Amino acid sequence: MIAVLASNNSHKLDEIRALLKDKFEHVCSLQEVNIRTDIEETGTTFEENAFIKAQTIFDMLDGKYAVLADDSGLCVEALGGAPGVYSARYAGEPCDDGKNNRLLLKNLHERESIFPRDRRAYFASVVAAVLPDGRKISGEGRVYGEVLDEYRGNGGFGYDPLFYCEEIGKTFAEASMEEKNTVSHRARALAALREKL
Ligand code: IMP
Repeated sequence: MIAVLASNNSHKLDEIRALLKDKFEHVCSLQEVNIRTDIEETGTTFEENAFIKAQTIFDMLDGKYAVLADDSGLCVEALGGAPGVYSARYAGEPCDDGKNNRLLLKNLHERESIFPRDRRAYFASVVAAVLPDGRKISGEGRVYGEVLDEYRGNGGFGYDPLFYCEEIGKTFAEASMEEKNTVSHRARALAALREKL
């Protein structure tokens, strides 16, 4: 079976391909099915946005392929769960990982000039699947950690250099993709999804 991933993020594609290599013959990028689009994420939850993305691409492909979509983000306790579903565009459009990370640190430092330091955070992911047989299923996953003051590591994407993961004892940017995939929010969301497939 072939699936299409409704995302323009090559890092997500690599991670999901590695995680699903036993389940799907191939996980196609949007480029491979000749779709160039930036889907507006109008939902207020990860689940809503994941289904908006999966359903939009499913319809564009006339329901011929299974379509997967991940919606994910970093939820920081001291910031009331922000940036959360707005993680990609936290510092505005267009999406810029460097600006997002700098704004995150700025907001944490400002808060810490008044309140005690609290760096607890988690990544959350919902992976939604819309299947040619009409099923619509999703799985959710989280990984807990803390936000550091300085970047560590050169791998990954997004908030990876600032996110220290207790379970592997390093930031996600210091971990290999295989190591990140043993604990990540996306891996856990896919595991929950697979239970239902
Ligand atoms: P989405 O494309 O709307 O799901 O945006 C996800 C955003 O959340 C990304 O642009 C990153 O900023 C952040 N994010 C999600 N997953 C990860 C991850 O595994 N590492 C680092 N940042 C992530």
